[in-house]
Amino acid sequence: MINFNVPPFTGKELEYMRQAVENQKICGDGEFTGRCSRWIEEKTGTRKCLLTTSCTHALEMAALLADIQPGDEVIMPSYTFVSTANAFVLRGAKVVFVDIRPDTMNIDEELIEAAVTEKTRAIAVVHYAGVSCEMDRIMEIAKRHGLAVIEDAAQGIMASYKGRALGTIGDFGCFSFHETKNYSMGEGGALLLRDEKHIEAAEIVREKGTDRSRYFRGQVDKYRWVDFGSSYLPSDMNAAYLYAQLELAEEINQVRLSRWNRYYERLKVLEERGAAELPVIPLGCTHNGHMFYLKAKDVEERTALIQFLKERGILAVFHYIPLHSAPAGLRFGRFHGEDRHTTKESERLLRLPMYYSLTEEEVDHIAGRVREFYGYERT
Ligand SMILES: *Cc1c(COP(=O)(O)O)cnc(C)c1O
Repeated sequence: MINFNVPPFTGKELEYMRQAVENQKICGDGEFTGRCSRWIEEKTGTRKCLLTTSCTHALEMAALLADIQPGDEVIMPSYTFVSTANAFVLRGAKVVFVDIRPDTMNIDEELIEAAVTEKTRAIAVVHYAGVSCEMDRIMEIAKRHGLAVIEDAAQGIMASYKGRALGTIGDFGCFSFHETKNYSMGEGGALLLRDEKHIEAAEIVREKGTDRSRYFRGQVDKYRWVDFGSSYLPSDMNAAYLYAQLELAEEINQVRLSRWNRYYERLKVLEERGAAELPVIPLGCTHNGHMFYLKAKDVEERTALIQFLKERGILAVFHYIPLHSAPAGLRFGRFHGEDRHTTKESERLLRLPMYYSLTEEEVDHIAGRVREFYGYERT
């Protein structure tokens, strides 16, 4: 049986978690949390990285820091995980969905401006599969209309757009370290801040509305309740698990890219013959092998392929029922313009197993069965 996902494990995780325990500091902002944050800051070049309990919570922090208010509108794709929308809905905002590009499954940057109204406050972009949105165009629109840009880079760590790390281009960047992501701490995430002006407010929001971070730095002699906030900091034991993987981030990235390229090589015959479509990586985008997907002809063919693979011990999955057609999406959002691609493309997309410990032989086996399904290989 080949699972769809296996959480990343490099071997040093337990030793580091043990060290965190021996440090007698297992709550938030211990040694490993600091090491992970500094690593991310150095690697991405962001001004400040705050480790969080999830990407969902990083997005919620971004919505708080962007001062999203009831009645405000936030533009985003409908083809995304629920957390992208929830963060703003929790603030009372209305979600305005626009269509995606069929090549990358990312928000279509050319449709954003027409969806802007006088209530629009922010654009939340999602870098699907670690492949960047067209950020130059998006930042230009945001600037012209005075909008905040939140990057849901849950899948985008170690990926870049024109040489800039995903998560560092907009005002706020959000990473996920869920067990299904390239680097993991079980549940966890990070908030990246581009501008100095958000750092102090972010530290306060993350620490229950107190100035405890300033207190720990010796800048104040007692900490007090200074603003609204919540508890968004992860345990240092979880950060210790993550740090073991960040230390090997290059290697993990290389392995994932090599598996991705191997899938591509072995399946490109399907694209050449017009049987199925493979992912597109636009010029200027460097991805991170987060996901390998293909697109079947339609939902019926996808269902048949999932079943075919399952009978052969391979678990392939699809995701993201478009938010605008889901019950909460109907309540909290509206789709601006025409749904030309979101529903259609989401019904065709199928994700193949992809994880750090996936072997070359397994990729060959899976790709072979997919080719077999399409009649390009005999058993
Ligand atoms: C995984 C994911 C999230 C949520 O991340 P958590 O860390 O599980 O909260 C949000 N957005 C996207 C696009 C994701 O892929």
